[in-house]
Amino acid sequence: MKELLLSTMFVLSSLAFAQPQAPNGGDAGQRSDRPTTEVLLRADAAGPEGRPSFDAARREERHRMAESQVAGRGITDEAVLEAMRAVPRHELVPPERRDRAYADTPLPIGHGQTISQPYIVAFMTEKLQLSPGDRVLEIGTGSGYQAAILGAMGVEVVSIEIIRPLAEQAARRLERLGYDNITVIHGDGYYGYEEFAPYDAIVVTAAAQHVPPPLIEQLKPGNRMVIPVGQAGWTQNLLLVTKTEDGRTRTRNLMSVAFVPLTGDRGGGPEDNPPGDRDRDR
Ligand code: SAM
Repeated sequence: MKELLLSTMFVLSSLAFAQPQAPNGGDAGQRSDRPTTEVLLRADAAGPEGRPSFDAARREERHRMAESQVAGRGITDEAVLEAMRAVPRHELVPPERRDRAYADTPLPIGHGQTISQPYIVAFMTEKLQLSPGDRVLEIGTGSGYQAAILGAMGVEVVSIEIIRPLAEQAARRLERLGYDNITVIHGDGYYGYEEFAPYDAIVVTAAAQHVPPPLIEQLKPGNRMVIPVGQAGWTQNLLLVTKTEDGRTRTRNLMSVAFVPLTGDRGGGPEDNPPGDRDRDR
């Protein structure tokens, strides 16, 4: 099954928060009926000092990747392309996978999980239409690569991962790379993270069975969420969900993808489908 998911995921596949800061290791305002969370890496409360500067190792491979796999397939947002050229993907994959870090494919990262294909990361990021200073919630930190791309674009990132060793590893690697605008949380992303809500954008990088209502609640009106929705083990629809100013949602199907499943106690069931008018264009 893992092989099926892997083979189909490609192409198909300090902060200066104004909100109250949780005490170290704890979580302010967490509702008692929700699973506990723990902050493993905290963005700089004084605000980001600047984008991290990465060394030049494997720079040419990154540029080739950005040109042929990303720009070559229609991604035009220069901020996304610049981040793809800059972020050392090889530092975020397991050592035994480093030689394949810039290949046109997802890769295993352990615990049955994957780092997504570069093109899919770029595509989802472009659809968020971000501006520097935006606050973005990511569900599914995994390797930390998607968070690193967002962080390199100058946005504030709050990223939640349910598998603790992956969350810890990503937090360590992102800290070592010099990010001061990424918060990594161990917890169940189905519930989002209320403390820093509302978010200017939300990106979910695991397949949900429905759009989690808490994520819609935590999205700013007028803003966007990108989320794969459908049954795990087969292809899903990558949805662009826009929350209108009156709090309703509009949903557009962007393409077919194959992601690992969103897990947790509410991994998802159709009974929770929130109201929203669907407007599929593919
Ligand atoms: N964004 C990641 C990256 O750049 O490497 C790739 C994500 S991988 C395709 C999906 C991740 O979502 C896995 O690491 C998985 O453990 C995580 N995940 C699954 N269900 C989750 C949940 N309920 N809350 C938070 N993370 C979850």
